[in-house]
Amino acid sequence: MNTRYAAIQSIAATLPRFARAEPDAFHAAQQAFGSCVFSDAVMRQRLPEAVYLTVRRTIDLGDRLDVSVAGAVAEAMRDWAIENGATHYAHVFYPLTGLTAEKHDSFLEPDAHGGAIAKFSAKQLVSGEADGSSLPSGGLRATFEARGYTAWDVTSPAYILEAAGGRTLFIPCAFCASTGDALDKKTPLLRSMQAVDRHARRILALFGEPEQKVDANAGCEQEYFLIDRRLFLLRPDLISAGRTLFGAKPPKGQELEDQYYGAIHERVLAYMIECERELTRLGVPVKTRHNEVAPGQFEVAPIYEQANIASDHQHLVMSLLQRTAAKHGLVCLLHEKPFKGVNGSGKHVNWSLNTPTANLLNPGETPEANARFLVFCAAVIRAVSLHGPLLRASVAHAGNDHRLGACEAPPAIISVFLGEHLTELFEQVAASASREPRHGKKALALGVNCLPLLMAEKGDRNRTSPFAFTGGKFEFRAVGSSQSVAGPIMVLNAIVADSLDTLATELETRVNGDPGRLSAAVQALVKEVWDAHSRVVFNGDNYTAAWHEEAVRRGLENIPSAVDALAQYVAPETIAAMTRQGVLTERELRARYEIYLERYIKDIAVEARLTQEIGRTLVLPAVSQAQGRLADTVLKLRQLELPADTSTLAEVSRLTVSLQEELNLLAEISREVEAHHACKVGHARYMREKVVPAMERVRELADALEGLVDDVLWPLPTYQELLFIR
Ligand code: ADP
Ligand code: MG
Repeated sequence: MNTRYAAIQSIAATLPRFARAEPDAFHAAQQAFGSCVFSDAVMRQRLPEAVYLTVRRTIDLGDRLDVSVAGAVAEAMRDWAIENGATHYAHVFYPLTGLTAEKHDSFLEPDAHGGAIAKFSAKQLVSGEADGSSLPSGGLRATFEARGYTAWDVTSPAYILEAAGGRTLFIPCAFCASTGDALDKKTPLLRSMQAVDRHARRILALFGEPEQKVDANAGCEQEYFLIDRRLFLLRPDLISAGRTLFGAKPPKGQELEDQYYGAIHERVLAYMIECERELTRLGVPVKTRHNEVAPGQFEVAPIYEQANIASDHQHLVMSLLQRTAAKHGLVCLLHEKPFKGVNGSGKHVNWSLNTPTANLLNPGETPEANARFLVFCAAVIRAVSLHGPLLRASVAHAGNDHRLGACEAPPAIISVFLGEHLTELFEQVAASASREPRHGKKALALGVNCLPLLMAEKGDRNRTSPFAFTGGKFEFRAVGSSQSVAGPIMVLNAIVADSLDTLATELETRVNGDPGRLSAAVQALVKEVWDAHSRVVFNGDNYTAAWHEEAVRRGLENIPSAVDALAQYVAPETIAAMTRQGVLTERELRARYEIYLERYIKDIAVEARLTQEIGRTLVLPAVSQAQGRLADTVLKLRQLELPADTSTLAEVSRLTVSLQEELNLLAEISREVEAHHACKVGHARYMREKVVPAMERVRELADALEGLVDDVLWPLPTYQELLFIR
């Protein structure tokens, strides 16, 4: 039997079975929350008080870690882990592949008497050596010095993960070369957290506030597709590229709009419940689940957390989504565009700046809090205006090229949505005119002399903006679903820190020790920022062609190609800001540029090879079989002197000849790549300008044939099957 049909039959024969809900499931979940985490409560209970307080100072105040406490922490961590069933520990880190990396070691070590003891020392906690020769370094590490080092991140709690019948203690780590160059995503993220803290505190000091740590917080909404594993395994393109390289549009797509927020299918819900149960144990505060717009597409969102922890947790969410799927006979696709012509998946990163007591992107109760809010908002607007292309670069990779600027995602032009009221407010400040509160709305006294009154209102919902103020937070919507959020958050922190730095310096100079000058200084500065940078503010529909033209007039860049966007990593303004803030050195930026270009090239090269292989070994044979059958029928009918329709045969033959030609052309173009090997950008451009369109032409012909060829002969599960069969 046709393998597709066999897979479908097997799916049909497997009825999902569920246990009944526990009578007290809520309290069980409440009890289980964070039960696998070496949490604050566990540390307080198990660490000597002095050690506990030292660790807390590092976590709460950002003080440098006093390594002398590591011995006590290691001991407590080991005992706790072993009591909870762990046999191994692993340093988990986030290399520039964007994936999670882990190296496991056993706690078990032989003693001198033929037995074994549990061993986990300070040294093993604090740092590990990882042969990094197979992880990307972009030239930061010569291959003869392939070692990389992992370093314990004390601010992100360790946890125990159960998999395949074993439990392992995971220790979140940074990863760098022996030169100290960051080879990962966490190190610059941590540096950016420090930068934003440093300069936000300067602003707070001007407002006479007590010194407190300022943290960036993030909440990341993850979109994903689920498909049956039996169908997945019949698609080499999904297996190796994460997206379909062939596949005609299904008769029914998402046009009926019956998916979004629809009732969740039981098989999917059972999967979600298991994911959530596991994530809850790991202390990931998952909150929301729902159907997304496309068939087979879903979303999970946690409650926001400190950004470094949110980023580690986001990696956990992605890996658990994928691992749990396998247990349910499903596959979770995190690619930005698994299906052509169907909405892709993104990851909205909600971001804000907070002290332990206040959200700095919220207008507050007091006049000072409102003025402060304006300064922080102005800093963000200025940062995006100056570094929009860098934000674009932070979401640039082959997968996201399919999504940005398509109908479901913001365009590759970075602008800021503020909403009507906030925009008006800035305009008012800029015009230096005060105004009456609007009738019927609660007015917030802005207080600072001459500043107008601010309406307490959540930002409007504008789903088309790449970077929207949505009340107390900005939502960065251009992030791709498969990406680590560490990169985009690091860029955001760094550029805002740089902007806060400039604004703080201006205010400090103008106030010059006399708090009486603060309000006038704030007003003048906010006006200057608005005059220079309001060009980046756009509240309208980002999808329209009119905006794309307008954006050009405003001098905002539209960068649809990842290859072009990535160049921003080494633009002079990027290098200046990143080095000024101590987030990335020029060497580290150049390495990233190199690594991301290389990644782009490899991604497309894999797709090109898959296109060839699937085209030649699956599509063409099926098509020629179909042709043979059609031809036989025509011949037989003619022998019987019956009317024979040859139009399908003619069309199939015409398309097949073209398909063969395009496959040959793709092979030729792929061979010519070698001429471009010397120059990485040139190589990447060639992939984008020559290879991608050649693949696309192959696909168009194959997809047309899919609509003509006998279904029984078609080897690849169709879009209809992939998207609608549960
Ligand atoms: P929506 O995007 O659909 O409006 P919500 O506003 O409820 O949904 O929240 C989306 C995400 O934003 C959640 O992860 C939520 O925790 C997060 N979020 C809410 N407030 C903040 C904040 N101040 N800082 C960072 N993230 C936040
Ligand atoms: Mg959202």
